[in-house]
Amino acid sequence: MKRILIKNADWILTMDDNKSRVRNGDILVEGSAIVSIGQNLELPVPVDEVIDASGKIVIPGFVNTHHHCWQSLVRNIHVANGLKLEPWLAVVYDIFQDITPEVVEAGAYVGLGELLKSGCTTSSDHHYAHPRGVEDLIDSEISVASKLGIRFHPTRGNLTIGKSQGSPHIPDTLTEDVDHILADYERLINKYHDPDKFSMTRIGLAPCWHGLDSTEEILTGTLAMARKHKVQCHSHLAESMGEVEATIAKFGCRPVEYVRRLGWLGEDIYFAHCVQLNDDEVKLLAETGTGIAHCPISNMFLNTGVCRVPDLLESGASIGIGVDGAASNNASNMMSEIRTAYLVHRLTYGQRAPRAEQILEMATVGGARVLGRDDIGIIAPGMAADIVLMDWDQLQYAGGKNDPAACIVMSGDSKMVDTVMVNGDIVVRKGSLAKVDEQEISTRVNQIGNKLLKTASARIPELKMDI
Ligand code: ZN
Repeated sequence: MKRILIKNADWILTMDDNKSRVRNGDILVEGSAIVSIGQNLELPVPVDEVIDASGKIVIPGFVNTHHHCWQSLVRNIHVANGLKLEPWLAVVYDIFQDITPEVVEAGAYVGLGELLKSGCTTSSDHHYAHPRGVEDLIDSEISVASKLGIRFHPTRGNLTIGKSQGSPHIPDTLTEDVDHILADYERLINKYHDPDKFSMTRIGLAPCWHGLDSTEEILTGTLAMARKHKVQCHSHLAESMGEVEATIAKFGCRPVEYVRRLGWLGEDIYFAHCVQLNDDEVKLLAETGTGIAHCPISNMFLNTGVCRVPDLLESGASIGIGVDGAASNNASNMMSEIRTAYLVHRLTYGQRAPRAEQILEMATVGGARVLGRDDIGIIAPGMAADIVLMDWDQLQYAGGKNDPAACIVMSGDSKMVDTVMVNGDIVVRKGSLAKVDEQEISTRVNQIGNKLLKTASARIPELKMDI
């Protein structure tokens, strides 16, 4: 079993319950696990590798709780720029009809690769666009996650209400039959889901968007399947005022009440956004332990509002941070996301805004809780060795090294990320992916992205501006 000693870190921010910090600290990793932490650790056995962590802050890897990786190839597009959520959806869905396994693989390399390079060691993904007749898209992204070395929680998404059933934006070619979806859920769980400690792959089930994109039949069928196999459910919820108004018009109630009626609340369920909440809904989400993926950049880009994070934290809600799909971000960068989270709440809530350390807590142990994990998100003996070394010994951080948490959240960017370890395996060295050739992948992804827009431009001539 490989032993790695991380030696003499300026600070170790453990993110444990006491928010313990160790000055000039060491961490001993054995195989997948953290064995011990402290100053000048006595080593009973020789180690295979010593990492000099002087000039570095060591933190647990970030946990990204919401994403749509393939959207990395559907971003910075002229025709979608400046639109609010609902008209934006109409444009991007039209392009989604041309998704292939090749597109999903390319998107996963970019989305998950950038996450690793920005200090994220575990990511969820929500892949909901499955063009009819195109199979095994989740398999494609799982394969890429494994090659990159990131811990991965893919959720098998789906769409069941197309334009012919009244959807304003979903082409019928992207809708799937309920029996087909349920069968694919079960196939993926049986093939990939690992419930064990330190698991690298856990499957979740994820109709796209409650009653607006997803029928009641798939929502109830999904919940039953998830509870049978003890896997998580995921979806979008209360993202915009447009969604609230459409849900009231269709079902006579607000979005949170709609999912409550279907039994879609609980510790095994997490939702992206939860921006448009009233006081009772804040309380209900907290009381039921339902997870929330807070995605501030996407909410700003699509002009949907600001999540009530101070109220949710005060209520004891389970809340993590998510980058959301790159089409509404337009990146997959956890360092940008945490800085934005800090700033948007300062702007909105002033002194009630979460402090830098609370933002780090949401991005690490908070996200782990949302994803139903008690083996990641904290640096402590017995936890998975998901560890990030932040190099703050660079000009751009000089003069700001007074508090390590504040420096990461308020002054940090992904240039700070030096080394990333997942399950004891080093996957980023000196800021670059250690297991793949980044340049070769970039060239290939650009070609595949260009091909996707060329194909879609047969239906959407405005895309020719971007080819
Ligand atoms: Zn989303």
